[in-house]
Amino acid sequence: MINPRLGIIGGGQLGSMLCQAAKKINIETTIFSDDQNSPAKNFCDKFIYGKYDDDSKIFEFTNSIDLVTLEFENIPYETLLKINKLKNVNPNPEIIRITQNRLLEKDFINSLGLKTTDYIFLKEDHKINSKFFPGILKTCTLGYDGKGQSIINSIEEFSKLKIDLGKEFILEKLVKLKKEISVILTRFNDGSIEIYEPFENVHKNQILDTTKIPAEINDEIKIQSKEWSIKISENLKYIGSLCIEFFVDDNNKLYVNEMAPRVHNSGHLTINSHNISQFENHIRAVCDLDRINLNKIHNATMKNIIGDEIKLYKNRVYKKNEFFYDYLKSEIKENRKMGHLTIIKK
Ligand code: ADP
Ligand code: MG
Repeated sequence: MINPRLGIIGGGQLGSMLCQAAKKINIETTIFSDDQNSPAKNFCDKFIYGKYDDDSKIFEFTNSIDLVTLEFENIPYETLLKINKLKNVNPNPEIIRITQNRLLEKDFINSLGLKTTDYIFLKEDHKINSKFFPGILKTCTLGYDGKGQSIINSIEEFSKLKIDLGKEFILEKLVKLKKEISVILTRFNDGSIEIYEPFENVHKNQILDTTKIPAEINDEIKIQSKEWSIKISENLKYIGSLCIEFFVDDNNKLYVNEMAPRVHNSGHLTINSHNISQFENHIRAVCDLDRINLNKIHNATMKNIIGDEIKLYKNRVYKKNEFFYDYLKSEIKENRKMGHLTIIKK
């Protein structure tokens, strides 16, 4: 069989890393992005610039490829449905629809009997209980890297807020965080799964700062987080790499925070720590290629390079166990992920 041509919607750094992984195993990539200056333009075989609701661009895209995946979840659902009618999209648009909305996502996780933080959807007639404070107000859609979120300390503070209910919001109870971890797995067409060990994540200003393996967590959390992730993926009949973000509280209780139906920032170290990265595994799963048993080669830490910091990193000399990735973004912006550094350990 000839390798399928893979279409990827979205052109950020995750798209770039998917293209690089695809190249390694001889899969041709076409990126479809609404940003003319997409970083992934530097790494794909073909680049299509267009608005996601432009049918002529959708046809140009679907005519150049055999299969489709995506590098971010905020693609209009209508676009995904149109594309999926022409060429198979994985993960499936129905899964993306759930993860596009924090309320649907949390309701889904709870319907599986898994724990999330306490949350409430804000409506005109909402009756807020003081148990939600201190809390965190989040827009249901389009949030990332802490955008669309604000911490509310008390019910008094909340009652003074003017919330525009033209948008959808949830209020979530703030967890006393001991740790944040994430689990990435890749599920294949035949239902088989490769799963990475949990990653330990530290956030600064609600943006991921560092990830390390091994995570310093007890065996119970390690096993439970993997079991929950597998359960979620099986219920969704998921195909591709999936990331589940978790909170661990002061009492060592586990909560699902959110899911990312794609490769994830916390998995960047897998490029250097494992025989097969989250990116290659994703490509193998969505293209229905061979599954290769996963092996860890090194422990590792990853540091995100945010905003201006990139200037320093561009001018450094690196040791042989250090791997610097420059996302080649055309503009430096505050709080924007510009690159990362992975350090492997024996
Ligand atoms: P995003 O889509 O921006 O990643 P998250 O819901 O993952 O949104 O929130 C970003 C970060 O903010 C989390 O990784 C965590 O550090 C902090 N945070 C979010 N919700 C809570 C919560 N309920 N309790 C404690 N910390 C939280
Ligand atoms: Mg998050």
